[in-house]
Amino acid sequence: MQNWIEYLEPLMKQYDKRKHPLDYKSRYQLLVMVILSAQDSDKHINELAPAFFEAYPSVNSLAKSTPEDLHPYINTVRNFGNKSGWLINLAQIIDENNNIPITLTELTKLPGIGRKSANVIIRESGNEAEGIIVDLHVVRVAPRIGIAIGTQPEKIEKQIMTIVPRERWNDIGMAISFLGREICRPTNPKCDICVMNKVCYFHNGITDNNVTDLELF
Ligand code: SF4
Repeated sequence: MQNWIEYLEPLMKQYDKRKHPLDYKSRYQLLVMVILSAQDSDKHINELAPAFFEAYPSVNSLAKSTPEDLHPYINTVRNFGNKSGWLINLAQIIDENNNIPITLTELTKLPGIGRKSANVIIRESGNEAEGIIVDLHVVRVAPRIGIAIGTQPEKIEKQIMTIVPRERWNDIGMAISFLGREICRPTNPKCDICVMNKVCYFHNGITDNNVTDLELF
């Protein structure tokens, strides 16, 4: 049987506790930036964030605005029309920075927040994980490594949750995401410098994901 916990340790060590690439300064800023970055790039959101937060420094300031007020600050963001509506709506629900929830159930009730975004907010807040961050990088990389199959984020998340102990859930999702951003790119993955190259199914040409007794060390 594959000892994934042992195999994944070098990966978790490599990216241990590294902050999310969104350059936020508070949980409020993280909440806004996570919503804006969906289907857009973290780099783009980091660039426009200072002007946005100068105009809207708190949940309360957002709650008093209209979606149209936000457009000049975010009109280069993908799907900004819906996102501006979600931001105003959730700000009116939360009302104050101190009321931002930190549980998966409460976060995912907010407009524009799905499991991935909620898991990011929980991890970056230093709270106990309730799930695993599965972004587009994890959707690509986890099946390559061999710890999950399929393309649906929630199914991939559940598979990894069965393999990795709960105390490492916050670390593993972000670690796989960083690996995907830096090493395991969609084309020409840098397998020669990858810490997973001894066990990775893709690199080792393993196509049968049910193989359990392969000795790679
Ligand atoms: S060994 Fe290659 S394919 Fe496998 S995770 Fe690393 S970079 Fe990606």
